[in-house]
Amino acid sequence: MTEIQHHLTEDLIAAYAAGTLGHAFSVVVAAHLSLCDECRSQLEAHEHLGGAVLEDLTQETVSVGLKSAVLAGIDLPAPPEPTRITRSGIYPSAIMTALKGRPPKWKPVGGGIRQCIIEQGAEGSLRLLYIPPGRAVPDHGHGGLELTLVLQGSFHDASGAFKAGDVEVATEDVQHVPIAGEGIACICLAASDAPLRFRGWLPRLLQPMFRI
Ligand code: ZN
Ligand code: ZN
Repeated sequence: MTEIQHHLTEDLIAAYAAGTLGHAFSVVVAAHLSLCDECRSQLEAHEHLGGAVLEDLTQETVSVGLKSAVLAGIDLPAPPEPTRITRSGIYPSAIMTALKGRPPKWKPVGGGIRQCIIEQGAEGSLRLLYIPPGRAVPDHGHGGLELTLVLQGSFHDASGAFKAGDVEVATEDVQHVPIAGEGIACICLAASDAPLRFRGWLPRLLQPMFRI
């Protein structure tokens, strides 16, 4: 893995540690964490912080009722972890688990671009994108947050160049045209919490077909 330049934000790591991140974003975050020592040590720091807060709660400053409620909470059996499926090729374990162990099913969406929708609902979507070398994804804005993790190749847009392992955090105010690097196709995992907004009339026309 080449050196990672673009990391998760601290807010995302904190939300992931607290378990408050939606599933689609969690898969992207878990996949980046599996590739990135730097973010993983930040996550560990957050988990320690969570533990310290819990320890403070159990001191005599809190009521006996709260203390026993907290301690009872600790005794509850942890919810079952989803069965983890091991890494396969460029796809980290978190993605293979989301794919239920099956290889991605690619669907052409025009311009040589292919996508594999892993999950899609009113809250957003999780999908893999395959962008041939030098090709652009239509100019679009975001109704919310979009996280894109590069798994193979690279892409660049106005905010920088993203290589394998890098994650782009695009917020509502970002309008961008990601273009795949030359040489090898760019494969990335993208999660969004709202449908994307395309600018031109043609992409808007294509949007129902893209299902993004
Ligand atoms: Zn990182
Ligand atoms: Zn985007």
